[in-house]
Amino acid sequence: MDAAATLNAAPVLDAATARKKLARWYDRSHRDLPWRRTRDPYAIWISEIMLQQTRVAAVIPYYERFLARFPDAAALASAPEDEVLTLWSGLGYYSRARNLQKAAREIVALGAFPRDYDSIRALPGIGDYTAAAVSSIAFGLPHAVIDGNVKRVAARLMNSDAVAAREVAEELLDHRNPSRSNQALMELGATVCLPRDPQCPSCPIAPHCKAFRRNSQNEVPSKRAKPATIRLERTLVLIRDRRRILLAPGLRVRGFWDLPEPFPGARLGQRVGTFRHSILNRRYLFVVFEAKAARIPPSFRFVYEKGLHEIPLSTAAKKAIQCSNKQKVVS
Ligand code: SF4
Repeated sequence: MDAAATLNAAPVLDAATARKKLARWYDRSHRDLPWRRTRDPYAIWISEIMLQQTRVAAVIPYYERFLARFPDAAALASAPEDEVLTLWSGLGYYSRARNLQKAAREIVALGAFPRDYDSIRALPGIGDYTAAAVSSIAFGLPHAVIDGNVKRVAARLMNSDAVAAREVAEELLDHRNPSRSNQALMELGATVCLPRDPQCPSCPIAPHCKAFRRNSQNEVPSKRAKPATIRLERTLVLIRDRRRILLAPGLRVRGFWDLPEPFPGARLGQRVGTFRHSILNRRYLFVVFEAKAARIPPSFRFVYEKGLHEIPLSTAAKKAIQCSNKQKVVS
């Protein structure tokens, strides 16, 4: 039995009723988020890229700063890459920021933000999910979004890991209002059908949910094994020259500046602290030493401490400088 037939075979609600229930619930309960107050495809696209792998609460201040500085594709296209990375600093997954700028340049060359799914999908850094989200939310086109939240809701509705999330999402897509319909399903996954302990008593489509009826909502979808944690230890050297700090091109994140690791000619002095920092599954323990250097490698540069916020500076470097300024362990 395919997903549509299975949905419609549910004894209490059919898919059409589930769509209506979801729409009413969304109108009543959705969070008021800055990117939901606009139909501007550029702003919606920026928010969707930022929200990949990143929590809503963390994205909001980044989104507001980014839009204030780059209000349209032309402003983003013409900005120095350093400035784009600086405004992205802390969000991680920096290829997203580089692709945003590449895509902004293509949009400028096109003369306007593309208005159909295939043209949006063809921009750098845009996959099926983002193309469906932007084309449905900004232009009202009937493309179902499939993100992690939607996959989880679909698996639970059908009580199966093997369910085709696309079939379920397309069946639940309201063609009269794809923007609201897509956002409702994602919002349900983000706020009610949570990965752990879904809030089924508050769920508008609970009567339609096979996992809920079988009390298996905490077992579906089955958990995937996480990649093994890799523990690493690194030494950073803090070399000051009056009010300037020596920085090196980042080893961990391309395009960012970092504190150097020990290099020929560096003489380590007092240990000023340690801190922990994680990048994906790598857990770093950083040990920071003050140091002096007789020779500075040509790719390094001194930057005034008060100007550090104007360049793309790695989070590890920020923590190391904070650690040194406080002269104590931070984590
Ligand atoms: Fe998710 Fe529970 Fe709603 Fe089913 S009833 S969709 S498990 S929140």
